[in-house]
Amino acid sequence: MSTTMPGSDTMPFPPNSVYIAGEWISSPDLERLPVLNPASEEVIGSIVDASPAEVEAAFAAARAALPTWSATAPGERADVLDRLADAFREHGEELAVLASREIGMPIKESRAGQADLPERVLRSTADIARNFPWEARDASGTTVIREPVGVVLGITPWNFPVHQIVAKLAPALAAGCTIVLKPAELTPLNGLFVAALCERIGVPSGVVNVLTGRGATTGEALVQSGQYDLVSFTGSLAVGRHIGAVAGDRVVRATLELGGKSPAVVLDDADVEAAVRATVRNCFTNAGQKCNAPTRLIVPEARREEAVSIAASAAAAYVLGDPLDENSTMGPLASAEQREKVLSCVEGARARGARVAGGGAVDGVNRGYFVRPAIITDVEPDDPVVQEEIFGPVLVVLGHEGEDDAVRLANDTPYGLSAEVWSGNPARAADLARRIHAGQVRVNGVRTPALPISPFGGYKASGLGRELGPFGLEEYVEVKAVLGDPSDSIPSKEEPQCVL
Ligand code: NAP
Ligand code: MG
Repeated sequence: MSTTMPGSDTMPFPPNSVYIAGEWISSPDLERLPVLNPASEEVIGSIVDASPAEVEAAFAAARAALPTWSATAPGERADVLDRLADAFREHGEELAVLASREIGMPIKESRAGQADLPERVLRSTADIARNFPWEARDASGTTVIREPVGVVLGITPWNFPVHQIVAKLAPALAAGCTIVLKPAELTPLNGLFVAALCERIGVPSGVVNVLTGRGATTGEALVQSGQYDLVSFTGSLAVGRHIGAVAGDRVVRATLELGGKSPAVVLDDADVEAAVRATVRNCFTNAGQKCNAPTRLIVPEARREEAVSIAASAAAAYVLGDPLDENSTMGPLASAEQREKVLSCVEGARARGARVAGGGAVDGVNRGYFVRPAIITDVEPDDPVVQEEIFGPVLVVLGHEGEDDAVRLANDTPYGLSAEVWSGNPARAADLARRIHAGQVRVNGVRTPALPISPFGGYKASGLGRELGPFGLEEYVEVKAVLGDPSDSIPSKEEPQCVL
């Protein structure tokens, strides 16, 4: 099952194929799309732009596999997730290298986020599934049954490609759903790699199907097909809005994980240097292409200059280079389009009078979509660089006049995905966390727990629904209440039966 790809890669799947009903399918009639390495601009592979015929076939396969898969015992499905986790462990380095080559993520970040994290998500979802209340009696005597929602459509972006796929695949499989996945056009090989691992560990045919292609063609055909019972989308606000509208029209559930413009709020009693350094690190992971990156640093106005200078020197210390070089701390942006977007956001702010440290091209580098990290200050709170998601290595520093003002600024964007709060007083930090409108709040730079089960998702325009852990799994189940104890006698005709 090993095949040579353009660029001399060895991939565990045949080139220019999609995975439907346990088969690798290719057709010379389908348009080929190149896959580039954004650090070198070299072609590392190619994919097909799947057509409505493949869309139809993939949903037919998922629908056909549903009765048998949904009838398996939850423990059996959890065992499948554990076997998939074992395969992720075995092939972790290949997945990490591929992620670095597809999006330019530094290899250490790829190992942590695209191999180790998905493996932990698979194992933790398996454990949750083994202990989930699939069938439980409530206080009224009613039996509440959680059933798989059905066929799932999963559409994912490129920035954390493997993690975003697994955050949908794991709960779908655990719940007894079947799934059709469309990975992003920039990072499709990772999605096909995951399909190959599913095949290798014996996930039954049709349970997992992976189609490649453009969002506007394959993605749109998938969304418009109406063949799914849940669409789980991660990506931009614009596309999420569109998918949510289509789903709403069909009264189909949509889980939307969209963008962010997350604040890091530093109070006057915090260790400013530690807070700024941690915020820079967190903001510039994956060159800032992270939906929950803290991109607005909100510090006491009296400490703003100091914060800008610490942030600027931390930003200048980044080593931009080949993502596969262990010494690189920042890779390129994922595409030429992304690079142009980021550069124009920074230039726009500068033209409106903002002060910018860093930013722009990297001296002496004329290949790859590299952009030097930028620190921006002297901007109005309603400036586009403060309000809009940039998705690049750009940190904006704002000053606040006290805690209430800081909260006002923190909540003053359309988004609410995540936030960070910093205070020397734990009770004050906890109080501040409650005042911020976001799905996740980190206190004093706490690291992500090793067990990836905390709910992840957004308030406001950052989305609908949650991923990971028990809340993530709930999105993939339909709830049925069965009223009446089977051991009870049939009520007599005179008894009132219908009050609700
Ligand atoms: P995007 O353009 O919305 O694309 C996301 C996915 O949707 C891709 O697979 C894309 O295909 C597909 N797509 C595009 N148009 C479509 C359509 N009309 N119908 C169906 N599918 C369509 O987002 P992106 O540029 O890849 O990713 C960056 C965005 O994702 C940022 O805004 C970021 O904040 C957000 N994000 C959010 C989270 C979260 O969990 N909240 C996580 C990561 C990223 P193509 O790749 O072919 O365009
Ligand atoms: Mg896109």
